[in-house]
Amino acid sequence: MRTPIIAGNWKLFKKSGEAVELVSQLTHLVRDTKGVEIIIAPVFTVLSTVKPLIANSNIKLAAQNCFWEEEGAFTGEISPGMLMDAGCTHVIIGHSERRQYFGETDDKVNRKIKAAISSGLTVLFCIGETLAEREANCTFNVLRTQIEQGLSELAKSDLAKAVIAYEPVWAIGTGKTATDDQAQEAHAFIRGVVADLYDHTSAESIRILYGGSVKPENVKELMAQPDIDGALVGGASLKADSFAAIVNYLV
Ligand code: PEP
Repeated sequence: MRTPIIAGNWKLFKKSGEAVELVSQLTHLVRDTKGVEIIIAPVFTVLSTVKPLIANSNIKLAAQNCFWEEEGAFTGEISPGMLMDAGCTHVIIGHSERRQYFGETDDKVNRKIKAAISSGLTVLFCIGETLAEREANCTFNVLRTQIEQGLSELAKSDLAKAVIAYEPVWAIGTGKTATDDQAQEAHAFIRGVVADLYDHTSAESIRILYGGSVKPENVKELMAQPDIDGALVGGASLKADSFAAIVNYLV
């Protein structure tokens, strides 16, 4: 059985006061939720603010990015060990906004994934095709390349600390959700690639989240798909009631 994950990516939103307000409401709204792993990914500057607020809750803490070196002359970067020190258990790597605006290549994504996992973090590894790639019928090639390169040199045992997030770029922040069939088809393909690279057991164990305009109104149908194990939620994670409604999709 794969425990579902609902993760909220706050992107570049929420200063400390707003973060405290959101988390205080959220801990209350999801305090009875069982059977779902709940993760929030605030900006770096509020990680330490949020940590004590979720200490006795069922919410885990993620960062939105990290560098692959542990320390050194790398101005402006933050390392996996520093994220652990700030109380993170998870980190998002390879989000399409980082690939698009910050030159994050598959090779950089791979270095970050290896460094994060070896420091003890669990990685939410994002992949997904652009609209042009989908329209050119390249979706599966793009996904295969991103997975092969992103997971390159990772041992089978490392996969326990990896979660894949399938986020079609055309569905992120656009209000356009992939249909349940489109999402299921991509997730089944991704699981197949993991089976090719590792084995059937690893493919059956790894959790694959869907991301792209997930809302309270569409989460239930998405989660009913056999290969969808959760959601990475952007916009709708910025309000406690909508994120809690997504987390509580079973209710
Ligand atoms: C995201 O930021 O990963 C995301 C999926 O955003 P949204 O839910 O707003 O599309």
